[in-house]
Amino acid sequence: AKERGKNNFQFYTLEMTEKSIERMKVERGLRHALAHDELRLHYQPQICTGSGVVISAEALVRWQHPEWGLVYPDRFINVAEETGLIVPIGAWVLREACLQAKTWIENDGPFGSVAVNVSARQFLDTNLFQTVKRTLAETGLNPSVLELEITESAIMQDPENTLQVLHQFQGLGVRLSIDDFGTGYSSLTYLRRFPIQSVKIDRSFVIDLPCDEGSKTLVRAITALAHELKLSVVVEGVETRDQLSFLTEQKCDSLQGYMFSRPVSAEQFQQDFINSGFK
Ligand code: C2E
Ligand code: CA
Ligand code: CA
Ligand code: CA
Repeated sequence: AKERGKNNFQFYTLEMTEKSIERMKVERGLRHALAHDELRLHYQPQICTGSGVVISAEALVRWQHPEWGLVYPDRFINVAEETGLIVPIGAWVLREACLQAKTWIENDGPFGSVAVNVSARQFLDTNLFQTVKRTLAETGLNPSVLELEITESAIMQDPENTLQVLHQFQGLGVRLSIDDFGTGYSSLTYLRRFPIQSVKIDRSFVIDLPCDEGSKTLVRAITALAHELKLSVVVEGVETRDQLSFLTEQKCDSLQGYMFSRPVSAEQFQQDFINSGFK
């Protein structure tokens, strides 16, 4: 037993070492990526359930690494958050998304909104509000075109502070949405107090629709509650026709998912959704 304990210990430290080497590589790589313009944004359309019209685009960050290829956020967002690099990365994402939306509006006319993800770590940065304000001023984007997505769990880390910052954003005129809704155990009191326009139901409640009774009940309940509070309901991760028809029946306001499109490059998004009649 002693022998085995020792082996386990060695295995454990080896695994830890591998992990920390990987993290260090990612951290160093991210600094390089910021300095050498290796980050990219992909855009995924949000579709109005009633009309089928594309009303919004969610900006999702990718890392075009010279050797690793296109790297997805699940491989680097954690490291970015832990090292604080999410602050400059988030500022880059915000600027890029605002510039892109501005270009689309100038070339092609009215545009619904562009949604940008903001993580909990960014909310701890006292400059977040100024960064958003300055970026809107510098890019000339109408604040009402920008939507910030904040996860429910980020809000619950420090609800009072978040509430204050959200009120500042509200004053600026940007739209606010709670992301991954249903996963963060937030009290309903907060939902009523937050100056938000929409909730985004998490994909975990969509995967087993329309077969799973629990998922159905939750989606129904969240939608009814949100509508009662005059909030718009967005559903992410819609992949199948059966999910689509259930969500349409429930009168969820807008939908996002592979069923409509995967996140695509700005050029592709423009071709597929703007040139062909984005409203
Ligand atoms: P999220 O904000 O919940 O974004 C939705 C994720 O689900 C995206 O993954 C999207 O590509 C994926 N998705 C969309 N439709 C479907 C579908 O029908 N089926 C399935 N299986 N997946 C779908 P992605 O782009 O890999 O992003 C993962 C997460 O990384 C995001 O989750 C978000 O939390 C974070 N993230 C992405 N971009 C940014 C960013 O610019 N800033 C921050 N702070 N976080 C970001
Ligand atoms: Ca999101
Ligand atoms: Ca989400
Ligand atoms: Ca999610």
